[in-house]
Parts: sequence; structure tokens; C-alpha cells
Amino acid sequence: MEEKSVAIDGPSCAGKSTLARMAADRFKMIYVDTGALYRCVGLSAMREGIASKDAAGVISMLGGLNIEMRYSGDGTQRMFVNGADVTGDIRLPETSVYASDVSAIPAVRAFLFDMQKEMARKYDVIMDGRDIGTVVMPDAGLKIYLTAPSAVRAARRYRELTEKSIGTTYEDVLRDMNYRDKNDRLRAIAPLTVAADAIVVDTADIGLDESLERVCTIIGERFGL
Ligand code: C5P
Repeated sequence: MEEKSVAIDGPSCAGKSTLARMAADRFKMIYVDTGALYRCVGLSAMREGIASKDAAGVISMLGGLNIEMRYSGDGTQRMFVNGADVTGDIRLPETSVYASDVSAIPAVRAFLFDMQKEMARKYDVIMDGRDIGTVVMPDAGLKIYLTAPSAVRAARRYRELTEKSIGTTYEDVLRDMNYRDKNDRLRAIAPLTVAADAIVVDTADIGLDESLERVCTIIGERFGL
């Protein structure tokens, strides 16, 4: 029997977290959003006035940083930095670029690695990120690479932010997304790439419901659920 763990990787705004959360709910697995961890480091650097590419500055901050993932009764992952709930703050657009920049620093990745490994060890997880199938869970029972063209992804994210009344423009969303994708693909450590044994799901022409069904069918077939 395959280990019941699912790695979902892919570029920014591909719908990984939405689909992973819904699939985890359906199969009674634990959803782990690893981007939230990098966002916590990015947000903390931003708040301390440390430039996102100032590796020495970011590293010196890590010692005083206690990042926790807590789950509420309905399975929602909430993020805490030194005891303060930052779940909402880490979603602000300016945090995204900061998260991407700090994620290229090897010491940041090492700092967050054990927390991810521990979750994978303890639970049946659906974990999403950029390097889950390649680095964090190379032995995952199933690896999915979720993608869509950048214009489609940016339009979806723009709609999402507008619905939450977060002021931005489509152009800004597309620019930040392209910046992050390039950063994530080209960085020297744990770059975003399709794992050799991943199943690629392209959601360009399908909506949320159909994407969810496709992902759940793949999971169900792999684990006999
Ligand atoms: O997934 P999300 O967009 O929230 O991730 C924010 C940033 O964190 C990404 O742009 C990426 O640079 C970084 N990240 C990463 N590895 C992961 C998850 C996220 O480098 N496993």
C-alpha cells in the first residue's frame, strides 16, 4: 500500500491551496499550506524593516522567530508568529513578494524544513507548495503538479482579492505573480520544478468544481478511497 500522503506543487495562484483544502476535507486528511510558513518569515522581515534580499539580516532574525501552525476545529490552518495570529496579514499582496524573496535563502528553508517533515510524519497530509514532491516528501504516495497559464491564474487571483476588498489591479497581480514564479523556478535551492513522477493537472479550461473532481479522482484511485 502506498503511503497516504499527497504532494501538490505548482506555480503561484494555480489554485493549489483551495483544491488541497477541499480534497483534504473530503478524504479526512490534514491540509498543510507550506507557503504560509514562508509568508510568516517574509511578513516578519517586512515588519522589522529588513530588506527581503538581505540574507544576513533575515538570518539574524530567525533565532527570535517562533512560527506555529495551529488547526481550528473545522480543519482551518492558522498561523502564529511569536504567539500572535497573523493568518490574515500573511495574505496581503505585499507579503507575497517578500515570501518569495526570503524563500530563496537556504537558511530559511532549513529553518522551516523540520516543521513540514514533522507534519508529514505524524499525519496523512495533503501538503502544497513548490518543493513538496521534490524535497519535503520525495516519497509521497502521490504527487500532483497543478498549473494553468499565467493570465488565467492572475485573473483568478485578482477576482479573489477584489472579492475580499483588497485593493489591487490585474496588472499588479500579474506582475507580482510573474516575479514570484521566476524567482521560484530559478533559485539555486529547491526550485519549482515538476517531479519526475508527478501527475500534471492543467486547470486552464476547467473551473473549480471540475478541477476538484479531477484531483479527487486521482487521489481516490491512487489510494483506493
Ligand atoms: O504558496 P504561496 O504563494 O503562499 O507561497 C508564498 C511563497 O513562498 C512562494 O512564492 C514561494 O516563493 C515560497 N514557497 C516556497 N516553497 C514552498 C511553499 C512556498 O518556496 N514549499
